[in-house]
Amino acid sequence: MFYNLVKTPVIVKTGKHILGNMDRLLSEAHLVFPKKILITQENLYEAYKEELGTDTFYKVILVEGGQLSETNAIIDECKSEDVLMIAFGGGSVLDIVKYSASKMDKPYITVPSALSNDAIYSCVARLTENRKKISLGVQPPIGILVDIDVIKKSPRVLFMAGVADLVSNLSAIQDWLLAHNEIGEPINELAFMLAKESALPMLRYSEDDVFSDNMILDLVNGLVTSGLGMIISGNTRGTSGAEHLISHAIDEYFPNKSTIHGIQVGWAQTLIAKKYHNDPYKVNEFYKNVGLMKIFNEMIPWSEEEFENLIPYAKKIRNRYTIFDHL
Ligand SMILES: [Zn+2]
Repeated sequence: MFYNLVKTPVIVKTGKHILGNMDRLLSEAHLVFPKKILITQENLYEAYKEELGTDTFYKVILVEGGQLSETNAIIDECKSEDVLMIAFGGGSVLDIVKYSASKMDKPYITVPSALSNDAIYSCVARLTENRKKISLGVQPPIGILVDIDVIKKSPRVLFMAGVADLVSNLSAIQDWLLAHNEIGEPINELAFMLAKESALPMLRYSEDDVFSDNMILDLVNGLVTSGLGMIISGNTRGTSGAEHLISHAIDEYFPNKSTIHGIQVGWAQTLIAKKYHNDPYKVNEFYKNVGLMKIFNEMIPWSEEEFENLIPYAKKIRNRYTIFDHL
């Protein structure tokens, strides 16, 4: 018999009072480790020290986040210990823990302080090396714990970036289908379905819902489901299409004009939907209703004409067939 074996997290929990109850939640999930190491940023640690409970952790490692060079120190601190690593922070903290843990083949859980992108559950870490962002393959976490009250205190723009990163799946799957129809690239139907279904629940929300319990829950569920799709297909086809190529091209070739990942991909998605796809999922209407169009106007320094000039750079980012190859 032949099956696709997939590693799924042992625990996924979104709710209130998560930070102060991690020990209980982990033991209920039969995740018993003699030592737990917390990896986070100083400002977060100061803000949540009491809730986290200082004696819960064998060690606390404070990091800046985002730099590949920082992973050496984490690996030195953890490699000889039988530990569960707990990453508490935004995407930049989660990504260095994902990479360090994978290097040592150690289990880790992600506890996001913001939901700015799909870092909470994915098989890719984006880190900076020599001032350039690089993508590295990593093992997924064994658990994801999301404290709704922590997310509510995160910057609104980061939350909106996470929403856009998830909704951009609806652009990526159109590129995947195009690649399938035009150059015969295989489609993993299950991963395709997960990428699509994870994003659709977002479309019902508008600006007044931002940071509501329901929208936070749907965003977490969407990011986790979307991540599962990536892990099933073993690639990022369902979550990263032409809109991601534009964002990566800005980061790579115009770092002085780059901004938050999710904001860039959402902006690129609006133009791709409008110009080339006839917007079947009505994402432009959604982005307007949820307040993202306003954020794109404020934060993106590129005009619609300049978008066209970015396409040749986007095509250089990686060998991935998208709408840009079809034009
Ligand atoms: Zn993304």
